[in-house]
Amino acid sequence: MTGAIETDVLIVGSGPAGASAAALLSMYGVKTMVVTKFNWTCGTPRAHITNQRTMEVLRDLGVEQQVLMEAAPQEIMGNNVFCTSLAGEELGRLQTWGTHPSRKADYDLASPGKMCDMPQNLMEPVLVGAAARRGATICFNWEYLSLTQDATGVTAEVRDHVSGLTHTVRAKYLIGADGGRSKVAEDIGLPMEGKMGVAGAMNVIIEADLSRYVAHRPSVLYWVMQPGSDVGGIGMGLIRMVRPWNEWLILWGYDIAAGPPRLSDKMAIEIAHKLIGDHTIQVKVKATSLWTVNDMYATSNTRGRVFCIGDAVHRHPPSNGLGSNTSIQDAYNLAWKLAHVLKGQADPSLLATYEAERSPIAKQIVKRANQSIGEFGPIFDALGLLSTKDAD
Ligand SMILES: Cc1cc2nc3c(=O)[nH]c(=O)nc-3n(C[C@H](O)[C@H](O)[C@H](O)COP(=O)(O)OP(=O)(O)OC[C@H]3O[C@@H](n4cnc5c(N)ncnc54)[C@H](O)[C@@H]3O)c2cc1C
Repeated sequence: MTGAIETDVLIVGSGPAGASAAALLSMYGVKTMVVTKFNWTCGTPRAHITNQRTMEVLRDLGVEQQVLMEAAPQEIMGNNVFCTSLAGEELGRLQTWGTHPSRKADYDLASPGKMCDMPQNLMEPVLVGAAARRGATICFNWEYLSLTQDATGVTAEVRDHVSGLTHTVRAKYLIGADGGRSKVAEDIGLPMEGKMGVAGAMNVIIEADLSRYVAHRPSVLYWVMQPGSDVGGIGMGLIRMVRPWNEWLILWGYDIAAGPPRLSDKMAIEIAHKLIGDHTIQVKVKATSLWTVNDMYATSNTRGRVFCIGDAVHRHPPSNGLGSNTSIQDAYNLAWKLAHVLKGQADPSLLATYEAERSPIAKQIVKRANQSIGEFGPIFDALGLLSTKDAD
């Protein structure tokens, strides 16, 4: 145990929520410290679709151009393809993300920010960099353990996994941005509604040159309908572009009632080949992971001087690309209010508006993302592809 470290705002987590909160607070001149339990930012692409409102926040932070340089541009995002496999029959194509001529003007008029596709493993370093450059203290390998709060601040215990020491951090406010298994939300007893683990999903990240199947219909999402692709996951098999056109994230479901499968590289390649529909394509597996679809939100996001943002208060499937975008908006909503209160420019009662404004959003996006999975059911039914029917 060491003497107390003092800061104005302590942030737990350096994902899209925590890193953007740190970048914004330090831009406003607030003394900010981030503790985050891993060695670096997230290692896999995860969130990618970056909407116009997020681009506006990135513009404020001065990193919009950097993101546009690293991201895949809007122009190649838009052909949402539905097929029996990439090499198989194309069932339909929706021109999305503002690329359809009849919608393009709406997007252009809505904001000077252009949406783009920025994998989360590239986005987080940009946000953490923006925070650190402006003076935020970022502590990797530091794990939040517990907190207590009183009338003037929050005292948190954190463990530094490099030295093995436990530190006490005293902050005026604490932000819990510690993701879908948030300990901060649990410790302050935020009320949750819904269910975790409603379906099982597998991610397989591969290197494979798929240009011959995609370059003429460029998209970030290729939805694959095959018998079995309605089991678990997000309602359909998915081939998601990570880098055009040689890095991909394959998403496939598993029956959660049967328990998680052992996802070997052999099985991962089989799944990839099945969805691509061409077994001659060379596939290199970069990473695999299992995750669950969640359907849960907090009905309240604040307790005293502790605020939760991001997946800590809304946990849902990736459908519609709402996760990291909403997390960054939570941070944006809270950061300027904290800055004004800490500088004595606003009454602390301003902080109550974070809950009033963002709690309803948490519920809306969790419902929306889960609803879009259910919407695929009738399509499978119409095509006679429902797995339950196959079993009959
Ligand atoms: C396959 C997939 C695709 C997705 N696609 C999209 C998309 O297209 N668009 C979109 O907007 N969203 C998408 N999402 C969702 C998105 O990834 C999440 O919503 C987003 O990461 C949430 O950000 P966060 O900062 O709240 O939490 P996280 O990114 O989970 O970050 C949590 C942070 O807290 C830290 N932490 C946790 N516990 C502790 C502790 N005790 N002490 C210290 N640190 C701790 C972690 O190390 C991490 O830094 C997708 C998710 C998946 C899985």
